[in-house]
Amino acid sequence: MCDIQKGFVYLVGAGPGDPDLLTVRALRYISAADLILYDYLVDVRILSFARVDAELVSLGEPYTGRKLKQDEVNERMIIAANSGRKVVRLKGGDPHIFGRLNEEIDALTNAKIQYEIVPGITSASAAAWCAGVSLTDRRKSSAVALITGHLSHEHDPTLPALDFKKFASFQGTLIFYMGVVTVKHWSNALLEGGMPKNTNIIIVQNATMKNQKITKTTLINVEQKIKDENIKSPAIIIIGNIS
Ligand code: SAH
Repeated sequence: MCDIQKGFVYLVGAGPGDPDLLTVRALRYISAADLILYDYLVDVRILSFARVDAELVSLGEPYTGRKLKQDEVNERMIIAANSGRKVVRLKGGDPHIFGRLNEEIDALTNAKIQYEIVPGITSASAAAWCAGVSLTDRRKSSAVALITGHLSHEHDPTLPALDFKKFASFQGTLIFYMGVVTVKHWSNALLEGGMPKNTNIIIVQNATMKNQKITKTTLINVEQKIKDENIKSPAIIIIGNIS
C-alpha cells in the first residue's frame, strides 16, 4: 500500500493512453488516491488502477465541448485537499506540456496546499514511437518545436497570438498539438512563410489507443487529407523530413 499524504494534491501525468506507458510513480499514486480528478483524454484503462472505493470525477466529456472551467477545476482540487483527502489530478500525457500546470500550481500555492508533480510520456513521444520515426536526427533535424494549434487568443484576447509563419524557417521538426481543427490556419501560414509544399507530415490520431490511426501526407495536402480521412482530435501532427 502506498503512503501518499492526505490533504495533498498529486498532479500526475497519465501518458498517452496505453497503461504500459504509465510511470511506476504515477501507478503508485493512482492506486492509492481517495479522489481522482481526470481529464477527458485519460484512457479508461488507466482509471481501472484506482481503488474500488475511490471517487473518480471526469472534468469534461469527450468532443461535446462540455468541460469544467479552469477555476472550477482548481476549486474542486482545493476543497478535496482541504477536506483531508488524497487527491490525484490526472492529466493526459505530461502535465508540463500544454497541461495548464502553472495555473493549477498557482491556485494550490495560494490556497497553501502542498503538491507534487509526476511527469508523464507526452503524446509527441508516443506518436513518434507509434509512427516509427525519431523526432530528431543529427543528420537532418537537430531541434524540435512543440507548438499548440489552439488559437487561444481568439478565445481570450489577453493571451499572446503565435505567428505560425515564423516556424516555416525553424531548423528542425515541428510538432503540433491541438492542430486538427486549425489546420487551414497553420498550414497556410507555414506555406506563406516559405516552407516547401512537399514537406513530409505524419498525423497520429489516438496514439497508443485501440483506435490509433496513422496518416502520411505533405504540407500542401494536409488540410484536404484531414477532411478526406475524417481525422479528429486527439492527434499529433509531425512536420519535417525526419523519416
Ligand atoms: N499534456 C498532454 C497534451 C495536452 S493538450 C501531453 O503531454 O500529451 C491535448 C492535445 O494533446 C490533443 O489535442 C492532441 O494533440 C494531443 N494528444 C493527447 N493525447 C493524445 C494521443 N493519445 N494521441 C494523439 N494526440 C494526443
